[in-house]
Amino acid sequence: MKGQMMHRPLKIADLITFAADTFPDSEIVSVRTEGDIHRTTYGETAKRIAQLAHGIQGLGIEVGDRIATLAWNGYRHFELYYGISGIGAVCHTINPRLSAEQMIYIINHAKDRLLFVDLTFVPIIEKLREHLPEDLRVVIMTDRAHMPETSLAGVLCYEEVLDGQPDHMDWPDFPEETAAGLCYTSGTTGNPKGTLYSHRSTVLHAYSLCVTLPKVLQEGSRILPVVPLFHVNAWGLPYSAPLSGASMIFPGGALDGKSLYDLMEREKVFSAWGVPTVWLGLMNEINQRGRLPDGLGDIVVGGSAAPRSLIEGFEKQGVNVCHAWGMTEMSPLGTQGNLPPRMDDWGMKERIDRKQSQGRRVFGVDLKIVDDEGNRLPHDGKTPGHLYVRGNSITSGYFENPEASKLVFDEEGWFCTGDIAAITSDGFLVITDRSKDLIKSGGEWISSLDLENIVMSHSGVANCAVIAVPHPKWDERPLLIIQSKDDDAPPPKDELLEMLGEHFAKWQLPDDVVYVDALPMTATGKVSKLTLRKNFAEGAA
Ligand code: ADP
Repeated sequence: MKGQMMHRPLKIADLITFAADTFPDSEIVSVRTEGDIHRTTYGETAKRIAQLAHGIQGLGIEVGDRIATLAWNGYRHFELYYGISGIGAVCHTINPRLSAEQMIYIINHAKDRLLFVDLTFVPIIEKLREHLPEDLRVVIMTDRAHMPETSLAGVLCYEEVLDGQPDHMDWPDFPEETAAGLCYTSGTTGNPKGTLYSHRSTVLHAYSLCVTLPKVLQEGSRILPVVPLFHVNAWGLPYSAPLSGASMIFPGGALDGKSLYDLMEREKVFSAWGVPTVWLGLMNEINQRGRLPDGLGDIVVGGSAAPRSLIEGFEKQGVNVCHAWGMTEMSPLGTQGNLPPRMDDWGMKERIDRKQSQGRRVFGVDLKIVDDEGNRLPHDGKTPGHLYVRGNSITSGYFENPEASKLVFDEEGWFCTGDIAAITSDGFLVITDRSKDLIKSGGEWISSLDLENIVMSHSGVANCAVIAVPHPKWDERPLLIIQSKDDDAPPPKDELLEMLGEHFAKWQLPDDVVYVDALPMTATGKVSKLTLRKNFAEGAA
């Protein structure tokens, strides 16, 4: 027997309509590429989104068409999220840090029809233009006064797409499974692969974020997404902030510690979201100034493992650190690391031990860990296995890529994350490594993450990575690569190995330590172990 309730398709446009009705004065503040600060509200933004949607329809865009964006975090990019999906088209966010080759691949693979581009990135598109689809039209995200000289033929100006359009839209209904967003993973191996989000998966994910982080996602809260709109929907914030009434502060392109500190202080940011490297930069700035930016109370960190020293640095100053884990293929949130009240009276050390884990699953994400043969492993916190996930906001296959899709699902339909993890009896996920980053020495596994965590607590280390290098006898051995805080006084090798020796068995210690000026980064701001493995394929030499 079926229930007798109405069935309204879940749709993204309803989020902004709701925000405009309910939280019309909640703010969107943006550092603009034009150089100034722009302030608006959900109320005003909903009108501009309607104008944008009419404008895009006027350009001949239809349901299912892909429209690309190449832009920083700012109000126009946010408008595109809603204007595009609202009419049933697909918002394809492109990461500007991808290589030229990858960018050409994904724009052609997605068959994008329009490309909205920030002023900063116009030169990139000029260079790539001849390799992009002939009928792709480019819209520059600025007003007429700031339109640049460009070699691109037939470019449009963003504000002129909106000009004169009605500021109301009766958002069309379509099935909730309709595609809404497209994001390619940076593709550590092979070509990038696209995750195609639907209206349903996106709205459910937004709900899930709001119930998971209620202290942050609420009316009156001011949130800084440093995590980019061009990568996994800025962790879902552009959808959950309007749903909860929280204000958003968009930082534009200046993501160094000083710029972020100044912006946070000026805008009284309460919660800031980003990858560990960003927070290492901010922490330096905080240490130099000797105090936190006014108003800061919460940091959400994810994308790669948060070093213990970083969590400790913030927690000791009274800032709650929420260490979250997820993937592009998961919309992205999988687990969150806020601690339950029963741990309130735990000592700082025990609390930080727990916060180093990736936290507990959010509603809508099922987790399982299995051995090499696919047998389930116990949740005892000690037995690591291959981590699989299942849920309504998790991919069921890569966009137009059946070959890649075949490789990532097991017989029961669970998605293989490629991460190795243990799960404690009280439900905390502990990622020990990515399967391809594990080091296998003489048949035994060594976790690169565990080694890195200890090294990061050395005061002279700015950043580090441990990778596997081939070894004739042991198959693989760990190599430690260090980026020092002060090039003239790098932490000595003996000291680092001695420090590790206090925590690890001798055979787990790196065979060698090398020093580099800067670690290579991926397009999503993580240390690129792939590049390091290539560079050090012959070992430290
Ligand atoms: P990309 O590699 O393209 O940046 P994602 O951003 O989807 O792709 O990366 C997801 C992966 O990042 C996860 O599978 C995991 O290996 C890693 N990751 C994300 N968050 C964490 C975390 N908190 N701790 C450890 N690893 C993490």
